Amino acid sequence: MKVLKFGGSSVGSTESIENLLGILKELYSKGERPITVLSAMSGVTNLLTTLAENAAAGQDFDKSLEELEANHFAIVKSLIEVRCQNPVLTQLKIYFNELEELLQSVYSLRELSFQSKDLIISYGERCSTFMISKVAEQYFPESSYVDARELIKTDNRFGNAQVNLALTEGLIKEFVSDNLDKMLFVTGFIGSDEKGRTTSLGRGGSDYTAAIFGSVLNAERIEIWTDVEGMLTADPRIVKKAFPLPVLSYTEAMELSYFGAKVIYPPTMVPAFLKRIPIIIRNTFNPSFPGTVIQYDSGNSEFPIKGISSINSVSVLNLSGSGMIGKAGFSGRLFTLLARKQINVILITQSSSEHSITFAVHPSDAIRAKRLIEQEFELELDANKLLPLEIENELSVLAIVGENMKQTPGMSGKLFYALGRNGINVRAIAQGSSEYNISVIISQKDLSKALNTVHDAFFAELKKTLHVFCLGTGNIGGTLFKQIKTQHGFLQENNDLEIKIVGISNSRKMLVDAEGIDLNDWKEALDQKGMAADLNSFISQMKELNLPNCVFIDNTASESPTQYYEEVFRSSISIVTCNKIANSGSFKQYKTLKDTARNFGVDFYYETNVGAGLPIVRTLKDLMMSGDRIIRIEAILSGTISYIFNNFNGESSFHDVVLNAQKLGYTEPDPRDDLNGTDFMRKMLILARDAGYALEATDVKVDAILPQACIGAHNVEAFYEELKKAEDHFNQLKEVAAKEKKVLRYIGILENGKVEINLEMVDETHPFYTLSGSDNVISFTTERYIDRPLVVKGPGAGAEVTAAGVFAELVNVGA
Ligand code: ADP
Ligand code: ASP
Ligand code: MG
Repeated sequence: MKVLKFGGSSVGSTESIENLLGILKELYSKGERPITVLSAMSGVTNLLTTLAENAAAGQDFDKSLEELEANHFAIVKSLIEVRCQNPVLTQLKIYFNELEELLQSVYSLRELSFQSKDLIISYGERCSTFMISKVAEQYFPESSYVDARELIKTDNRFGNAQVNLALTEGLIKEFVSDNLDKMLFVTGFIGSDEKGRTTSLGRGGSDYTAAIFGSVLNAERIEIWTDVEGMLTADPRIVKKAFPLPVLSYTEAMELSYFGAKVIYPPTMVPAFLKRIPIIIRNTFNPSFPGTVIQYDSGNSEFPIKGISSINSVSVLNLSGSGMIGKAGFSGRLFTLLARKQINVILITQSSSEHSITFAVHPSDAIRAKRLIEQEFELELDANKLLPLEIENELSVLAIVGENMKQTPGMSGKLFYALGRNGINVRAIAQGSSEYNISVIISQKDLSKALNTVHDAFFAELKKTLHVFCLGTGNIGGTLFKQIKTQHGFLQENNDLEIKIVGISNSRKMLVDAEGIDLNDWKEALDQKGMAADLNSFISQMKELNLPNCVFIDNTASESPTQYYEEVFRSSISIVTCNKIANSGSFKQYKTLKDTARNFGVDFYYETNVGAGLPIVRTLKDLMMSGDRIIRIEAILSGTISYIFNNFNGESSFHDVVLNAQKLGYTEPDPRDDLNGTDFMRKMLILARDAGYALEATDVKVDAILPQACIGAHNVEAFYEELKKAEDHFNQLKEVAAKEKKVLRYIGILENGKVEINLEMVDETHPFYTLSGSDNVISFTTERYIDRPLVVKGPGAGAEVTAAGVFAELVNVGA
């Protein structure tokens, strides 16, 4: 014998009812006569509750009731042959008339008791089950509608009635043995008390009805048919990457569902557990999928936890004071009091100093709990042995669950690391002594982010998602998007990493979409759907969305975004940037940014500030971290100046070389912006700071390449004229160099905490003698690299290599 239960969404439409019939037909054809427990059509219990409450508040209910009736009628009309429809419609009409009368009474009395509410909501299950039994009759003539109020006997706690198992068992056994050859369709969720008054078993209680039938009848299995593939690792509405679990133990299922996984009603597990009857959760819309088996043992699993669940809204009360220390029975008194008044305590933690007890309750119980405690502990409070009680609201509980946790150390470390790195503050912690569950209390606004972060951390085999906000869509930004798009598949496969661009802004427009912006047509999307750019609002949206593993990329060269860096770090968001302004501003700012990033456990990557994609910043960092000491750094870090001096070696005049470099796009529109050495100075300054020197820009001595007249020229044309006039100066330099078999190089040097940038002549023994194109080169002389320096050399400018550098660091944030 099997018991099948179909939930609201499985009976909510013609399509789903057809699926349900298909599942039953297969069993029927094998000669099986399962018991089918049905819920109300989806949304109906909620609707009836609202109508009843509205009626009590004097509001009209007619229109909604008519719609509800029409929905049921529509199903009858599409699924039952015309000639058989009438009696079904008539019976449904009777139900709806009764319902209307009841609502009318509530409306007239302006009063709604739990008892009346139970009677009103019972129509949901009665209508759907009656209707479906009649649809089924067309295929299984022995179909029979069963009103569970005749069989499930409860106490009179309306709204959450407790089943009298002994009585119920007898009634079910007798009834079923008289109807063995029938296809029974039983109303879920409802029962009746000893006086025959209608009761309900608690929201989601149809699952429980199925478990009671299954257990009383010693069913071989209880199947819970719903609209997902089984019990998933987390709530799929919040965690998109949640996946179905093949096996769970009763305890695990209980812990997961108690903590909010709605898919099964927690009390369902008890009767099944006592008789060791497996519960199988399956998808009505994909019947071939095996679903989740809930059974006695938890099965083997490659993951240390089974799932993550949460309670969206809890209130926390904290009881503390010297009066508690060493007082045996104190917590006993507290919790007995709450239990006596039927206040359900969701979670308890007590500090080992016994100085405080923190516990969580449903928000609707918080004020009552506070008052009760204040009465009970009045004397202690008056004597200041207890501090005044406070309620904290807008909190959530997140729990990781799994029997394997017991054997696996480091679980809580992993949990807290993931939460900490994403800036999620943990308000209280509890671990059940069973070690099946570690729970934390966090702020409600962080819940979705926390669930996704923790899911990523524990199910590492799955892809981790980086949520990226990009500022700047110019050469580097645009190229980065191209590279990410091309590498998407590779990253997913090889790095288990998914990069989702969720925000893009340039100086004109901005677009934010938490689901991700398609990089195939980001330009069009930004143009068409984007709003007017507003950096402040872009940053606020990034903070408010509060997405896990969030990264801010600044691909601009402007100062304004750098003003926000500190705030971004404080929101636990990492930054990757090629913009050197922040690091080359005041030393104080440089230091603050580094410290803030470290304190908030996020990354600040800026390799592309110096030498584009070349590993310069990273190399320096590695040297420093491994305890080496920098003695001297020599570098050519201006691609433009490199290009110019590399080409000023033959027939062309200095003027022509510069002009040509400009034509080829190697210089800024005004070549003096490169030749004045500011950009180079900034790079040297950043390196010096990373090497441990607290320098300011004014500490860097920059030897001008250009004669004063060139620097002072009032526009670019005038500059070129002056450059022609200075030809002798440059030729002379070149000749002196040539005579000594040397070449001209513009070199930055850091030594003894001092930075200088000079135009120098170097001979062929110098590592910078041969340098091609616009290459950068840097040599580190350190305590370890003392005889022969460590040299990094290669292309140090260009959109492709810079974007690649940014990309590499982005991937590193995900690592
Ligand atoms: P039914 O109407 O079939 O009883 P419910 O709405 O009670 O279905 O439960 C199914 C829903 O539970 C799913 O649609 C899903 O959105 C939600 N849910 C929440 N947490 C989980 C979880 N961990 N695993 C599966 N489903 C979950
Ligand atoms: N219809 C009831 C509810 O929505 C019972 C159930 O679906 O399990 O709570
Ligand atoms: Mg349910």
